[in-house]
Amino acid sequence: MPLYEYEVADGTECKTCGGSFELRRSLGRPELTACPVCKKPVKRVMSVVTSPRILKPLSISDAKKAGFTVLKKRDTGVYERE
Ligand SMILES: [Zn+2]
Repeated sequence: MPLYEYEVADGTECKTCGGSFELRRSLGRPELTACPVCKKPVKRVMSVVTSPRILKPLSISDAKKAGFTVLKKRDTGVYERE
């Protein structure tokens, strides 16, 4: 599954997701248009592998409630189903 990175579209800091987050989504699912946690409009950012930014992970329980498959990053850099 491709990894998508999202940013809150209006550039504000979201208390829940921190203003940006990343999700793995199946191909064919509709484009995410709002943060699944805070419901603010989001835009997709092209993922840059070399990006030094540390993204705050979504709240697992909230994301699951919203129907997302949440993967947590292990120290090895391998994504694993939570
Ligand atoms: Zn949010």
